[in-house]
Amino acid sequence: MQIWTPESFRCAVRALRLIHHASETSGGRSAARNRARGGDPHSQHLEDLAEDLVCDEPARHERLAADARTLGLIAVVDSDHVHIQAYSRGAHARLRALLDDA
Ligand SMILES: [Zn+2]
Repeated sequence: MQIWTPESFRCAVRALRLIHHASETSGGRSAARNRARGGDPHSQHLEDLAEDLVCDEPARHERLAADARTLGLIAVVDSDHVHIQAYSRGAHARLRALLDDA
């Protein structure tokens, strides 16, 4: 499993943004903002490990998601944006458990 830091994640997502002419609509969030957005309580947006992107041409969303997956990221094409996160839900939970035990 690739270990992503907020810095390496941000760098990878920046490259995807540039390639696909995309803008960030949501990145790191406070707990309050995450709740207001209806985010998962364990959302990777809380750890700077998730970003939502919108392409200038929404027809590119699937290609953006495919490129994100090629980099080892998790990408979900939503109705009006692409959510990209560092880890699958299960991998994220295991990683948090490991760090909690450390
Ligand atoms: Zn998101």
